[in-house]
Amino acid sequence: MIAVGIDLGSVAAKGVLLNGKSIHKIVIPTGWSPRDAGEQLLHNLLDQAGLSRSQVDGIVATGYGRVAFEQADRKVTEISCHARGVAHLLPAAGTIVDIGGQDSKAIRINEQGKVLNFAMNDKCAAGTGRFLEVMANTLGMDVSQLGELEAPQETVAVNSMCTVFAESEIIGLLARGLPKGGIVAGLHQSVGKRVAAMARRLGVQEQVAFTGGVALNKGVGRALVEELGCPVVVLEDCQFTGALGAALLAIQ
Ligand code: ADP
Repeated sequence: MIAVGIDLGSVAAKGVLLNGKSIHKIVIPTGWSPRDAGEQLLHNLLDQAGLSRSQVDGIVATGYGRVAFEQADRKVTEISCHARGVAHLLPAAGTIVDIGGQDSKAIRINEQGKVLNFAMNDKCAAGTGRFLEVMANTLGMDVSQLGELEAPQETVAVNSMCTVFAESEIIGLLARGLPKGGIVAGLHQSVGKRVAAMARRLGVQEQVAFTGGVALNKGVGRALVEELGCPVVVLEDCQFTGALGAALLAIQ
């Protein structure tokens, strides 16, 4: 059985192709057209796997751009796809924290990967990857550098919740000569606090799996552990969990 999962996110488009025991994964920027990004991804995945479209048995699309991707046989919410992906990778997981470019989610699942409950912040950039991207830009660095650069022992609290005000606050903190590493740790703490509060409202059931592109930032993982007061498992290929779940659902 050959199955493809396409996760068209707000920032990144992720694709997974499952062919028996082999797995192919590709991430590209979503850009302005999720439809084009989906087609490009499918093309690249087939190319990498040496297959043609007619050999694929099923395609499931997920992510905010899924409606635009006409080649999908089925469209499934990110919540269900993340749950399916996590249940496969970490069967003992009871809670998923997913932080993407434009939203953050907490999802409670059972052992079969069935969604029991979820909470989502998609109204405000605070507590999302976008918040960290804007802040990294203000600090003159790339978002991928934040995790390495943080200095938790000298954390500088960032109090503004709103991204626009937080940007001004960072400029003020830099002008006062406060250390960048401490400010970065404060930003991670701010994201961790916000997302942990959302997860606690659902009731946190261990093990906690951390997914989404922001899970690539080990500083946010550290802050989540502090704020939740329990271990957090960062899944390998955390950014592909939704696409993997979609591919697994395509097999079903
Ligand atoms: P979406 O599905 O909404 O497109 P993703 O789950 O792909 O979002 O996550 C995108 C976010 O992940 C970006 O906004 C960025 O903050 C973060 N990110 C992406 N790559 C990295 C990286 N190498 N290191 C740290 N953070 C990253």
